[in-house]
Amino acid sequence: MLLDQFSILIAIGFSGASLGLTLFMMWIVARRQTHLLKWSLGIALILVGLAFFGSVVESYNAAFLLVSFLFLIAGFGLLHVGSAKFCSGRAEWLSAAAIVVLGSLSTAIAFALGYSGIGTMAGNIVIGVLMLASAHQYWTARAESRVLMSVNAALYLIVSLSFVLCGYALLHEAQYVLTARPSNWAEDINSIVVIVGLTSIGTLSLALNQARIANRHKREAMTDALTGLMNRRAFLQNPSAPVPAGTALVAMDLDYFKKINDHFGHDCGDQTLKAFAELIRANIRPTDLAARMGGEEFCIVISDENPRAPTAIAERIREQVEAMTIPTTGGLIRTTVSAGISYSSGNETLQSLLIRADEALYDAKSEGRNRVRTSSLDRLAA
Ligand code: GH3
Ligand code: MG
Ligand code: MG
Repeated sequence: MLLDQFSILIAIGFSGASLGLTLFMMWIVARRQTHLLKWSLGIALILVGLAFFGSVVESYNAAFLLVSFLFLIAGFGLLHVGSAKFCSGRAEWLSAAAIVVLGSLSTAIAFALGYSGIGTMAGNIVIGVLMLASAHQYWTARAESRVLMSVNAALYLIVSLSFVLCGYALLHEAQYVLTARPSNWAEDINSIVVIVGLTSIGTLSLALNQARIANRHKREAMTDALTGLMNRRAFLQNPSAPVPAGTALVAMDLDYFKKINDHFGHDCGDQTLKAFAELIRANIRPTDLAARMGGEEFCIVISDENPRAPTAIAERIREQVEAMTIPTTGGLIRTTVSAGISYSSGNETLQSLLIRADEALYDAKSEGRNRVRTSSLDRLAA
């Protein structure tokens, strides 16, 4: 081999230590991301295991080889718990602990009976199983990021196979009792696969973690915190986007909302806004868009073959708001809503549609509120 096993172990040790430290520092600044702590502690245990393995490379000692496997199994177990938590939100402590405890026991029993070769086979296979379980976690969760998650699953699988091969090589050579450190073609492959595989897994896991945080921030920046609806920024992300014919925009504004705030307080006003947003959600289909444009102003984009559908939906919402009594902490609140509708002729942008819907809403307000009005352009065209 180009590099001796000891040098490879040192290389794995250094790259593992810097990765573990990075993960630990990331956890320090984001304590709720407990998978980072699990990964860094898992790596720490693996590094202790590797140190014992290194001492066996220097001069063989069955007890040290066993201790090395016990640390490695526990470390890879913890890595798996972290991956399960990251991928599915559940740490899967029970199944990981079962594999770790059963695996450690069988390895230790084999060593205790003098069958250090069989113990080494067991240790390698248990690590393989833990990595296979992690591969499965990433594969199951790959919808989040198809390429990165799938590559991570493949890397875990390859590393897993390299450990299983180490067990198989000993079995194949009938080495049931070791008199020197395990050294064969499978161990050589395993060393290379571990250094390349684990470093890549570490880098990919960090990239996935950062991508998830960036996505969450983007989602939060696009969502109205009070109602959970899309906010104005998200709604008007592309104001000059052409809107296909048959699409309608409904602009809605609660009537005399200031009075609600003045009479019941801002908090009850907020509860009213939430109730109204819920009512909107209940009245639209998943294909429609609803947004809170600011204050007590909301917008819905409806695409329907039936040109009467948007008016019917807006009218239904208006009637339901009028009939609704909202239980708030400050008492029962009743309110009404005015709405303006504009229909796209096919030659229109979101911005121009919004301006016409707002004009229609203004008409609804000036005609006495609690009513739905269609844009004058659409009334002329009809
Ligand atoms: P109109 O029928 O003409 O629409 O009258 P209005 O009182 O509803 O309209 P106006 O624009 O005068 O008042 C809107 C009020 O909405 C004023 C503001 O204090 C309140 N508001 C804006 N944002 C929020 C919010 O996030 N929460 C609460 N509770 N009130 C808000
Ligand atoms: Mg209002
Ligand atoms: Mg308003």
